[in-house]
Amino acid sequence: MIDPSELYHKKDELISIAKRCFDLRLQTNAGGNLSVRLDSADAIIIKPSGVGFNECIQDNLQVVHLDGSIEPSQHKPSKDLGFHLDLYRIRQDIRAVVHCHSPWATGYASAGLPIPCLTVQTIEKIGQIPLIPLSSKGGPQTAKEISPVFRDIKVVAAVLANHGTIGVGKTLIAAQYLAEIIEETAQIAYIRDTLISTHNIAPPPLPQFGTAIDAEKA
Ligand SMILES: [Zn+2]
Repeated sequence: MIDPSELYHKKDELISIAKRCFDLRLQTNAGGNLSVRLDSADAIIIKPSGVGFNECIQDNLQVVHLDGSIEPSQHKPSKDLGFHLDLYRIRQDIRAVVHCHSPWATGYASAGLPIPCLTVQTIEKIGQIPLIPLSSKGGPQTAKEISPVFRDIKVVAAVLANHGTIGVGKTLIAAQYLAEIIEETAQIAYIRDTLISTHNIAPPPLPQFGTAIDAEKA
């Protein structure tokens, strides 16, 4: 049974992470979505369709069971509900998902360019950022395209061509940090690529390790 206290606190946490994501301009308007898994039941809390990250409140967040049944709500379910549910079904370690349409990362993905893991922090915290193309008919990515990528438990983040990014984690703030690192890395990559091309220089080598300890061990 859903614990009302857990529900209240996790909704509160989701509201504050959504606000952080909006304040950082990683997600404007009513797009994107984020969710968190409950411990007291096989269910998640998720932002519904048509509600902006900055407008999330206790009363408009939806509770959805992992079997897909939705607790009574006046709102339409998120268009991406299917892939959120599937990520929780296939990975016990995933307890939160942040999906946003942040512009630098989505720009790279829409050009068909993977975002290189070019900072030591990106290597340490993410390791790889798979690029998931649109569905075969040109529609948005669904669980069919997304879940196979995340079946590899080393994958904690991905970018969706012409769509956005996904960060997953044990907590909402951990998933949000990944959304921020992906966007930051895309911006740094763009600046680096632009400078390399403007100055007509050979690309300097990329880091191989995320931490000094890993480098020393190698
Ligand atoms: Zn989306």
